[in-house]
Amino acid sequence: MTDQQDAQSIMDQVRVRFAPSPTGSLHIGNLRVAIFNYLFARHHDGAFVVRIEDTDRERNVEGSLEGLLDDLRWAGLDWDEGPGVDGPFGPYRQSERGDNHRKAALSLEERGLAYRCFCSDEELAQAARDDAPEPGCPGNCRSLEEGDIRARMERDEPSTLRFTVHPGTITFRDAVRGDISLEGSDLGDFVILRADGRATYNFAVVVDDLEMKISHVIRGAGHLSNTPKQALLFDALDAPRPVFAHLPMVLGADKRKLSKREGAEGVVQLRSQGFHPDGVVNYLSLLGWSPGGDREILSRQELIAAMDLDRVGATDTVFDPEKLRWASAQHIAALSLPELVDAIRPWVDTERFDLEARALPAAVDAIRTRLTTFGEVNEHLSLIFPTEDALQAGLQELEREGDSTLDTLKAIRTTLSSIEGWEAPELGSAVRSVGKDMGVRGRALFHPIRLALTGSRQGPDLGKVLAALGRTRCIELLDGAILWLEKSEAV
Ligand code: GLU
Repeated sequence: MTDQQDAQSIMDQVRVRFAPSPTGSLHIGNLRVAIFNYLFARHHDGAFVVRIEDTDRERNVEGSLEGLLDDLRWAGLDWDEGPGVDGPFGPYRQSERGDNHRKAALSLEERGLAYRCFCSDEELAQAARDDAPEPGCPGNCRSLEEGDIRARMERDEPSTLRFTVHPGTITFRDAVRGDISLEGSDLGDFVILRADGRATYNFAVVVDDLEMKISHVIRGAGHLSNTPKQALLFDALDAPRPVFAHLPMVLGADKRKLSKREGAEGVVQLRSQGFHPDGVVNYLSLLGWSPGGDREILSRQELIAAMDLDRVGATDTVFDPEKLRWASAQHIAALSLPELVDAIRPWVDTERFDLEARALPAAVDAIRTRLTTFGEVNEHLSLIFPTEDALQAGLQELEREGDSTLDTLKAIRTTLSSIEGWEAPELGSAVRSVGKDMGVRGRALFHPIRLALTGSRQGPDLGKVLAALGRTRCIELLDGAILWLEKSEAV
């Protein structure tokens, strides 16, 4: 059975998988694949399975499994099942499924669909160098006699299992690109079980996808070249092929494969910089897919509602680190103040900013429109709560302000010390009305106040800065500035 529509109708539930290899930190390209699978599963009320492809022991990197699971949790891509009866489930591990792979491989041998190959690594390497035209192996093991095979097995001669690929056209359907065909002779007989009894990637993936009842294989276009082999294996195992959907490549700005240089480091770097995970999920989901219309900022629920394979494009897409940052900023901006305060609290450098619980919301409110990541919080807080040195430098700058400076500061001090509430909008209008009364506006009004309070002429909305600093600190700073100016005038 090879028709993919049939496969979909036979499998009554959408089941997709993300199958990373634990060979390092999760890369942005991999996270995108996980996101598509997750959104697709949620859209169809299906299952999202995580399967760790750890059979290539030499390539496994210590600790990377935990790291990539943390990356998935951070992005909110929770998987639905795994070994064990009760959650939280560990993900499936391919290395624990060796017996299933072996059993399936032997069943193909028994049915004459795969054969023993006794070629040594040296022979194979030599044949590859010679560019050997044989579709099988250099030793032509496909045509070994039964008795010969048995005798060599009894002598414990190492052997692999090779899958027989017959000449003729192989066609598989990709949900993104349509039908793709190639000649069986271009593929050649390929190994499914290594001499040490471990399945090769192509075979393990098929057995696992089959046994896990995966309905849709959604992965990067880099795997297109593996797909004809996998399609043949599904056929040989008498199983419906899943729907294959290969996402377009993600390229760097130079149109080359995405590299660390592009700012597209591992997901772990995005986490450590405090990107909003929803912004990351949002932006990466748009690499190769469109939710329709010109919408670019979508909540998780909106992404789930819109996700489908129909609007996945086949053309390569370019990763834009600035756009990723913008998406993070948009999702931060969409948070309510209490949500933002909760999200930001762990990022605040508490040694540097001694903000009592009440002061944090007002400070966050002052800087919230400037944040593109949570990690930037300290840089922006220092605009409101500068160091002593920066405050001192501000006092020196005050002397260069106009003649009305001292009077302005005194008037502001008087007004602020008698104002009843301490909320940003009232504080902002109090400052403006002092200016009006004194006939000073714009820079002449705001610069002296900002310099006195924050050491800088620029910064967040002044009413919000006043609110964040609190009455006592504002009066203290204004008194200090007034004293400083009086002293310097007296000199
Ligand atoms: N383990 C493969 C990878 O990390 C994915 C295999 C697949 O999705 O079929 O690229």
